[in-house]
Amino acid sequence: MTMTILGYATHAPADDLGPFRFERRDQRSNDVVIDILYCGVCHSDIHNARNDWGGAVYPMVPGHEIIGRVASVGVNVTRFKVGDKVGVGCMVDSCQHCAACQKNLEQYCAEGSTFTYNAIDRHDHMPTYGGYSERIVVSDKFVLKVPDGLDLAGAAPLLCAGITTWSPLRHWKVGKGSKVAVVGLGGLGHMGLKLANALGAEVTLFTRSPGKEQDARRLGAHHVVLSTDAAQMHAINGRFDLIIDTVPYIHDINPYIPTLSIDGTLVLVGYLGGLEPMLNSAPMILGRKSVAGSLIGGIAETQEMLDFCGQHGITSDIELIKMQDINVAYQRMLKSDVKYRFVIDMASLSAK
Ligand code: NAP
Ligand code: ZN
Repeated sequence: MTMTILGYATHAPADDLGPFRFERRDQRSNDVVIDILYCGVCHSDIHNARNDWGGAVYPMVPGHEIIGRVASVGVNVTRFKVGDKVGVGCMVDSCQHCAACQKNLEQYCAEGSTFTYNAIDRHDHMPTYGGYSERIVVSDKFVLKVPDGLDLAGAAPLLCAGITTWSPLRHWKVGKGSKVAVVGLGGLGHMGLKLANALGAEVTLFTRSPGKEQDARRLGAHHVVLSTDAAQMHAINGRFDLIIDTVPYIHDINPYIPTLSIDGTLVLVGYLGGLEPMLNSAPMILGRKSVAGSLIGGIAETQEMLDFCGQHGITSDIELIKMQDINVAYQRMLKSDVKYRFVIDMASLSAK
């Protein structure tokens, strides 16, 4: 029996989101059914809802920063029981047998991982719908355990903003003595500052917004550089081992390359597409510098990040909103007016 679920959906790129009833798939033997308590609002939700990346399928229920409680488990599920606090991020399934999946890199699954929304379930071919809804059904391998002691609403953004910044920090082996910079202080950026700081790095924020300096320092930055100020940019030539660029739109990355050290890497996580103006290879060649990209993180790595956050008491700085406020939240996010993540209180969905 499929179940009828209430959520919030958009029906076209220019539409607002509104209430929508839809069918979730049957619970399979390895599935966990989760009552959703909180869902973070990621800038990717806006990109997808507006079809910025192409391939949008409507109606679309966004949301991939999900925290909830287990409502029931399939007969083959052993790792979870009813009542457990759990999380779900950007993926709900993958092929499980390709080289990437074998290496716990499900996000790079050769057959394409199944995204939490705007995708098709690989077994019963029903559309996937995301976390702006009351319940979700997820294969147990893609369900995360939420450590005790973490505020549940503040933990929701860890499932995407957290892991997307954690994964490059780990891949490029950031630790004590590393010099790390984050470009853009939004949802991903503020998690990048917190996580890099907790890993022991010296942390710098690049921002266009002079008003964010005090917050950046509170969130873990040791230095703040106004990226629009050429003198400030010049003063930090050759400094960083790793720069994590979270800017969601096309922007000039050339000014950041000279700030990398020899062998330094700028990893793009925010913008998906062709770069303009053209990337100048000279500063890269003259310092063996790299420009790279990174997509969320694997499931084991996501659990590692959640456990680290549990040990260090790290959650996101959030503004809790009602489901009904989602369209205003999107508008505010587009103006960078959020400190630093909206999280939907899902109890509001059914409230009169
Ligand atoms: P967000 O909360 O809106 O933050 C983005 C920040 O970037 C802003 O706060 C702003 O910081 C800066 N910014 C915005 N527009 C800019 C522009 N035109 N030029 C320069 N800087 C600008 O967004 P988010 O949720 O952190 O997501 C960031 C991006 O990452 C989105 O594109 C999202 O789709 C993507 N994403 C990627 C992955 C992945 O796996 N790779 C995962 C999740 C999200 P300042 O005011 O400090 O400059
Ligand atoms: Zn996201």
